Amino acid sequence: MKALILVDIQNDFMPGGALAVPRGDEVIRVANTLIADHRRDGALVVATQDWHPANHGSFASQNEGQNAGDLHELDGLPQVMWPDHCVQDTSGADFVDGLSLGDAEVFRKGTDVQVDSYSGFFDNGKRGATGLDAWLKAREVSSLTICGVATDYCVKFTALDARALGYDVRLILEGCRGVELAPGDCARAIDEMRAAGVVVV
Ligand SMILES: [Zn+2]
Repeated sequence: MKALILVDIQNDFMPGGALAVPRGDEVIRVANTLIADHRRDGALVVATQDWHPANHGSFASQNEGQNAGDLHELDGLPQVMWPDHCVQDTSGADFVDGLSLGDAEVFRKGTDVQVDSYSGFFDNGKRGATGLDAWLKAREVSSLTICGVATDYCVKFTALDARALGYDVRLILEGCRGVELAPGDCARAIDEMRAAGVVVV
């Protein structure tokens, strides 16, 4: 069985959003084409959703003296400080209008104040799982197609965890956009994914 994973296609990651990914809105059209292709083939569609409590520890606002973009620490793990984003039950956390999600299964992440969660499978400390792996394995999914935002964070860690969990992984580059805090971050992320066996299309 095959599945499509749509990573964090949410308002706050779109241009004008709280943590805007440059040209993030360009992934919507590609995502919708992939959704239609998967539905036609009887494959599954899954979406991850960044879903933070308002006092999440990854927010610069919760860490005295820190600014968005700084590298800090959260409960023993290195942590990039982000602007407040994807706060639970706010419009910023909603999926983008125009994304044809339909009855896609949604997996939320980043709900624990003390740890961030870039991957759709586990938090950054691998302390907890979102249930995505169990859900996919229960449906005998072995092959994943991934697109979304951001290439250099949530897409990358979702793809790397998927490889580590034994899935065949195809990344649709045209359907991904990155934050690029430092120039070259996206290129390095793509190299890392390729080295882990991700097929970059
Ligand atoms: Zn987040």
